[in-house]
Amino acid sequence: MSRLHNNLNKITKLDIAIIGGGSAGITLAAKLNNVSAVVVEPKTPIERDCNWALWASCAQKTQFKAAIKGSWQQWRVVDHHTEVLHSSDQFHYISLSSAKYIKQCESDLAEGVNLIRAAAEDICAEGIGGSFSARGQQYKADKVYDSRPPKVSKDSLKQHFLGCEIRTKTPISDPHIATLMDFRVDQSRGLHFIYVLPFSDRRLLVESTMISSKLEEKEWYRQAIYQWLKDQKIEIEETLGEEIGVIPMQSLNPLTINSGAIGAASGAVRLSSGYAFANIQAQITKLAEGINSGDFSVPMPISPFLNHMDKIFNGVLMAQPELGVTIMMRTAEALDADGFARFMLGSATLIDWAKVILAMPKVPFVQQMFRQ
Ligand SMILES: Cc1cc2nc3c(=O)[nH]c(=O)nc-3n(C[C@H](O)[C@H](O)[C@H](O)COP(=O)(O)OP(=O)(O)OC[C@H]3O[C@@H](n4cnc5c(N)ncnc54)[C@H](O)[C@@H]3O)c2cc1C
Repeated sequence: MSRLHNNLNKITKLDIAIIGGGSAGITLAAKLNNVSAVVVEPKTPIERDCNWALWASCAQKTQFKAAIKGSWQQWRVVDHHTEVLHSSDQFHYISLSSAKYIKQCESDLAEGVNLIRAAAEDICAEGIGGSFSARGQQYKADKVYDSRPPKVSKDSLKQHFLGCEIRTKTPISDPHIATLMDFRVDQSRGLHFIYVLPFSDRRLLVESTMISSKLEEKEWYRQAIYQWLKDQKIEIEETLGEEIGVIPMQSLNPLTINSGAIGAASGAVRLSSGYAFANIQAQITKLAEGINSGDFSVPMPISPFLNHMDKIFNGVLMAQPELGVTIMMRTAEALDADGFARFMLGSATLIDWAKVILAMPKVPFVQQMFRQ
């Protein structure tokens, strides 16, 4: 592989360039060895800090230890009629500080792999490689991996949320339980739930999450959070921060995915749930192994089967949003904790699938299968 050097035209030549140093980009950069590479990212880890959650094995818990903000062996899904409580020994639902994770990866970069704190501009693909500029400097790389986020189209289904990190006036009663979905909120504008991660008995992340095609005003999500807290008799002492997010739930057009796209830009977000972190870890680990053995192609982050099933699920949600709560509650009820974690991670067994399919309202799913 060629080494980094400046030629007479002041173009820096590289083996590998990574555009975007978020979840996918910085993870890949930190796994590269014996190459000349750059990762180009305009934001500092703190500027783009948010919470990344996943169901982690014990090995992953150790791997991400430095970035873990909270870890729960119990999680629940609640509606007006039922509370489904899952307790798992095999999986922990963990939440990472993205800033700590990214900072760690940035400090793990091998010699020859450099971080450029700037936006890449004038990006031009040339075969599997390409050229771009950053901070007025021109770069040309034999291979370019691009993790710039995909565009979210206006009328498509999306998961959108606003979360408040708060300190409560008094300790809450069950800080050892993560609330993944509490549907006891306004369902008139789409599938809506409150997501609660207790980092301690007085420090909580409370998010109002919507699955619909239309974004709401920020104040709407805040009011939903305040109402939920009031219903739970939890009083805020201080709001420590806010996070907002919009995650596309429609599949990306394969023609718009370039061969070097990684992470969400390559379709790593689960269409039915918005979870992406675990898929990105798996994709990037395989990619880095490939690069070490001379294979530069990007592995598919999610199987076509899973994407197909998620599209059917989203199709039902678009056609009959009022079924959303029933579908989510029945999925949680049908599976035990480990099965639920596998299902959310995209590694459900045939038995897990059978349980979920048997629990679903049949007519809307069969109708949707014919529409696909
Ligand atoms: C607020 C929020 C919370 C989330 N929580 C979860 C969660 O709990 N669990 C989960 O599994 N998924 C979660 N997701 C889904 C999320 O999409 C992924 O986890 C993850 O961030 C996607 O990684 P990525 O590398 O593909 O994209 P990103 O992490 O978004 O990284 C892309 C990077 O490209 C950079 N960039 C953009 N333009 C340029 C340019 N011109 N030049 C250089 N760099 C550029 C951006 O600054 C950004 O840092 C969340 C998403 C959001 C927005």
